[in-house]
Amino acid sequence: MLSVHRINLFAIVFPFLLGYACQSPERQGRIDGAIHSEKIRSHIQFLSDDITEGRGPGSRGIELAAKYIATQFQGSGLQPAVGDSSYFQKVGLTAMRSTTNLILRGFGRYWSLKPGEHFTAKTKIENPYLSLRNKNVVFMGYGIDAPEFNWNDYEDVDVAGKVLLMFVNEPSSSSASFFDADTLTYYGRWTYKYEEAARKGADGVILIHTTPLAGYGWNVISNSVGRESFQISPKEDEKLLSLRAWINEEKAREILTAGGYELDDLIQKANSSSFQPIELSLKVSTTIRTQLRTIETENVIAKLEGSDPELRDECIIYTAHYDHLGNKQAGDEDGIYNGAFDNASGTAALIEIAAAFAKTNLNPKRTILFAAVTAEESGLLGSEYLAQNPIFPLSKTVANINTDAINVWGKTKNIVTLGAERSSIQQIVKEVAKEMSVELSPDSRPEQGLFFRSDQFSFVKKGVPAVNIKGGLKFIGKPENWGPNMVKDYVANRYHQVKDEYDPNWSLEGTVQIAQFAFKTGLYLANSNEMPTWNDGEQFKKIREQSIADVISKK
Ligand SMILES: [Zn+2]
Repeated sequence: MLSVHRINLFAIVFPFLLGYACQSPERQGRIDGAIHSEKIRSHIQFLSDDITEGRGPGSRGIELAAKYIATQFQGSGLQPAVGDSSYFQKVGLTAMRSTTNLILRGFGRYWSLKPGEHFTAKTKIENPYLSLRNKNVVFMGYGIDAPEFNWNDYEDVDVAGKVLLMFVNEPSSSSASFFDADTLTYYGRWTYKYEEAARKGADGVILIHTTPLAGYGWNVISNSVGRESFQISPKEDEKLLSLRAWINEEKAREILTAGGYELDDLIQKANSSSFQPIELSLKVSTTIRTQLRTIETENVIAKLEGSDPELRDECIIYTAHYDHLGNKQAGDEDGIYNGAFDNASGTAALIEIAAAFAKTNLNPKRTILFAAVTAEESGLLGSEYLAQNPIFPLSKTVANINTDAINVWGKTKNIVTLGAERSSIQQIVKEVAKEMSVELSPDSRPEQGLFFRSDQFSFVKKGVPAVNIKGGLKFIGKPENWGPNMVKDYVANRYHQVKDEYDPNWSLEGTVQIAQFAFKTGLYLANSNEMPTWNDGEQFKKIREQSIADVISKK
């Protein structure tokens, strides 16, 4: 009985805590009818038109898209957020195209690996020529230092100046308290492996690819060979890896077998809490030649100033990436990566969420920022730049709401709020779901680590609680397997391909539904009395607490 009473009391008190109760029907009507599908359709059509050339960073096409978005913000009556008068935050990037070799010596043998076929390699060092000679190789298991799971592969080994061979993913677990069971933690992502090894002073990392551990095939990695990649120029004191490489399973197996190691046995060992790194009698050499150029691209950011003098120096930030993969490169068949679903859809929603805030005159208490971010496809770079150079200090950035590749196939019975369950944002999305009569469904592919793979993660990494709002797969009036089949078809035939084009048959009521959900979530967050907090045990909770404490101690 007690628990029932508690729940009822909570249901009554909670809307007041959010500062959102006592809606007039007129106000509620303004909120419910704020977003329309025709507008969203027109934005998707323009943004994914051939005229924007696939919106590759540094292209004239992406400039056109940026101008279009800024014009929409301006037309809606939203203020420029960069300085006093600009919608554009300039993001300088270094473009790098490398050719590499990779040579391994040891176990009485010699291997000269073929780029693309056996390995890929890049560097973080902005130098036209770089070479490593006969560096010692250490097998590091998963290469993870995770204090909250009491796991440290780096504990008893000196990795300075060495090249580390390791698996992607994380120790397998069936317990929620140990690497979150089936849900991938950030420790399992390849980006983490490179970052941690650099922090520990290693000179390079070679990741062993297996399809089950990576969650995708070798082709996804080998596709990057010969392509230009982008980065934010490293800071002067930043520790950098000279070599960031992948090796495919077959070659890794062959080399390790020559030394008397079995790959499957090493996976077993890596999974064990008694794992110890293995110094291999293997040396690696590489030469990396890089063509460098600098490019300028931009985030497009508008704001709606908060109405409450006490709270208007705090902000909610909406993001959606408006870049995509650009044009196919010479030698490929002619074509433009239109990126209609990924992510003209989310950008269109962002533009209309911003317009909805402007026209409904709801006077949210906190300031709201709307950021169409660049270079997501190049490694979340636009959002990373924004998180490094925030409009409001991160300690005052209450939450991030991101939309990336959102449902264009019709209304659904359910919505997925990726990452909300990690913080008190969960209470807010539950409230919104109730109001909109939709179910909340968990991520259908938790092992993919999607929460770490779009722009919300640039904020999460800096401690800001975030949510990525996506459509569910239960489509109204369609059989149960219709939604999952649509996704399968998209992944197989359009994802990151030139065929990701606008389709006039798209039913955008589902897109409206997500935009509406995101709009309401932001409105709650802008008006709530408390800032959202991470749940206990979340990896980024400490960073948040630190960033808020730093501000208090400076006062
Ligand atoms: Zn995307």
